[in-house]
Amino acid sequence: MSQDTTTILIVDDSKYNLQILSTMLSNQGYKVLEANNGSSAIAIARNSDVQLILLDIKMPEMNGYEVCKILKKSTLTQNIPIVFISAIDNVEEKVEAFSVGGVDFINKPFHLVEVLARVETHLRLNSLQKQLLEQTKLLESQNNILREQISNLTGVDWGLYSEIKEGFSLKQMRLFYQPIVNLEINKTTGFEALIRWKHPQRGLISPIDFIGVIENTDLVYEAGRWVLDTACKQLRDWQQSCPSNANLTISVNVSTKQLAEPNLAAYIRHLLNIYQVNPSCLKLEITESTVMGDRDLTLVFLHQLKEIGIQFCIDDFGTGYSSLRRLVDFPIDILKIDRSFISNEDWIIVKAIGSLAFSLGKEIVVEGIETTSELSILKTLFQSSLANCYGQGYLFAKPLESDLAFDFLTHN
Ligand code: C2E
Ligand code: MG
Ligand code: MG
Repeated sequence: MSQDTTTILIVDDSKYNLQILSTMLSNQGYKVLEANNGSSAIAIARNSDVQLILLDIKMPEMNGYEVCKILKKSTLTQNIPIVFISAIDNVEEKVEAFSVGGVDFINKPFHLVEVLARVETHLRLNSLQKQLLEQTKLLESQNNILREQISNLTGVDWGLYSEIKEGFSLKQMRLFYQPIVNLEINKTTGFEALIRWKHPQRGLISPIDFIGVIENTDLVYEAGRWVLDTACKQLRDWQQSCPSNANLTISVNVSTKQLAEPNLAAYIRHLLNIYQVNPSCLKLEITESTVMGDRDLTLVFLHQLKEIGIQFCIDDFGTGYSSLRRLVDFPIDILKIDRSFISNEDWIIVKAIGSLAFSLGKEIVVEGIETTSELSILKTLFQSSLANCYGQGYLFAKPLESDLAFDFLTHN
């Protein structure tokens, strides 16, 4: 740092001190500004490019601590290093000097060489700190550019990835529960667990906005396990709260990539064991693309869990391509008819999927029932098989927070 451009402010109510410090520092090539009281010191610090302040403590009107506190509060002056110079020589006062934000303390009477050595040290330290800050900023912006480039190349939004990861560690994720109703007895027999992100600033975020990043990265393992754990624990609580809930079921969405996780089946068995949940009460929803993916891997997974009685459901059925061969070969219990068929009133397709399911000995869940007329059409379509026919949709309830889901269940 060139000393010509380095400005030091000296604040002291003693003219004598001002003069000798000022002369010494000017002789060293520094630009020196002087103030003999607190308020003019603050004004000078705000309006000039001051790099260091030598500040007396005992002054009339405003003492050095007060001046320091005010300077540290303002973004304009908070980064200027302040070195106290005072005749006070007790420990408490020195501690106070550091606690209000001073970087050093020089005793009066001072030695000019000592003052000079300390001034130079703090100027150097401050300049290094500034350089470090600038380098950090530069690195951050380079990091953002790199991240954007990687996002474009991999198709994953890595910024969102980090935020989701943080969301999990800060426990911002929630499961909501949407009732699944048996259409013969018109009663809620289970819930589908659906993830939500309770973001402190952005509010409740829908899975549509972040599930893709989870499913396409390693987050799928942590998230998948968290969802399974939370859902099983919730089911245990609801089942234990009342004997009539003993057979309540919970449906959990499992993505294709999750199946590749070694030991997932063992993990699920472990959860059922620790929460003492009957495996037949857990339903895993997989998609048609999972069914049509790695045949052997999926079959091993399905059989490992089928053995103990877990049920499997194909979600959004009808929107992908399922081979009828696999529908027969795979131990699937339920077809969940995609809600687009209901909203488009494709009743012939709905009827055809239902007939296929029933003749293969499977049940159906019709998703996206929003109106009473949709419900009565479905009841007419499937009147002879209503016991194996379930409905899910806003007509019954939207996905609910766990307390509200429990209320819904008890007042069903
Ligand atoms: P999904 O598994 O097919 O879940 C059903 C979606 O349909 C839910 O959206 C639900 O809120 C919505 N829905 C239910 N009834 C109606 C209705 O009557 N009308 C309309 N318009 N929509 C209805 P949500 O909760 O936004 O979930 C979207 C998708 O995100 C899910 O589709 C599922 O694929 C995925 N997802 C949610 N939670 C998880 C999770 O824990 N793990 C995984 N892997 N995926 C999840
Ligand atoms: Mg689902
Ligand atoms: Mg679905």
